[in-house]
Amino acid sequence: MTLSPEQALEQAALAGIHRLRIPTPFAVGRVNCYLIEDEPLTLVDTGPNSGKALDELGAQLAARGHSIDDLELVIVTHQHIDHLGLVEIVAEHSGAEVAALGLAADRLANFDEDAEAEDRFAVELMLRNGIPEEVTAALRSVSRSFRGWGSHVAVTKPLADGEELPFRDRTLRVLHRPGHSPSDTVFWDERRKILIAADHLLANISSNPLISRPLDGSSERSQALVTYIESLRETRAMPAEIVLPGHGEPVVDHVTLIDERLAKHERRKEKIYALIDEQPRTGYELAQAIWGNVAVTQAFLTLSEVIGHADLLVNEGRVREVEDGPVVRYEANGT
Ligand SMILES: [Zn+2]
Repeated sequence: MTLSPEQALEQAALAGIHRLRIPTPFAVGRVNCYLIEDEPLTLVDTGPNSGKALDELGAQLAARGHSIDDLELVIVTHQHIDHLGLVEIVAEHSGAEVAALGLAADRLANFDEDAEAEDRFAVELMLRNGIPEEVTAALRSVSRSFRGWGSHVAVTKPLADGEELPFRDRTLRVLHRPGHSPSDTVFWDERRKILIAADHLLANISSNPLISRPLDGSSERSQALVTYIESLRETRAMPAEIVLPGHGEPVVDHVTLIDERLAKHERRKEKIYALIDEQPRTGYELAQAIWGNVAVTQAFLTLSEVIGHADLLVNEGRVREVEDGPVVRYEANGT
């Protein structure tokens, strides 16, 4: 029997997992953090680095009879600032251990340099895919202005894919599910069939497979959507009853939702193929053909989306990348 989202939250609460909804300044709205009332007393994600988020985190913990100082473990689900900006402050106040995917620990520790490198990478990728220079410059300043909501994070408890995280009343299995970001990590309570999934799977919006530098620091770009689809298939195969996401309501039927997401990507891929088949186009031209002129803040997002689908087509042998001076165009291979 499928639960309603409200029942799923109640069920999670009975299992000692409580959703805290922390405000962010971003379009996505509030971020879901999860308090696990167990030993150690654990917070999964913290929200962004702002006084408002800190106040609300304190108030929502107090409503459950805890304070920030009581926290013993903070888990970081992935590298995005709406999820981790407060981690350092919380860890400083409480002395809590900080757990995150070990592969991401260096990047989290060097937040400022990493954010700069990520921006340089994004600008290069945008220029190569035909996005005008003024758009990339505008986007870069937007990114800089957001950076204050992030922070470096010192990981004291590096986690490995597949490892078990033991608590007094439960065990969570750590699973690396990259795609939305390279460091996406989900936490699986097999006994209760509850998956804490952060942004890997969201009920109301599809998780953007944002193109990002690989965790090993190499400059080669990863195929974010290809990776994401592989990760989704792994999650689809799990017997989860409740998926607790990083934004919005719980997912109560993850198989149906994942099938919808996969079908949507399949449709979009064919749409992009048709556009490429019509005439060779850059990633920017493809994004414009689909969405028109989007807001500057959406430019990297839509480009990530287009490149992701073009990657699928390149891997299938239906499309190739052709260098044209400083830009690259996608061309159909013909049948
Ligand atoms: Zn995210």
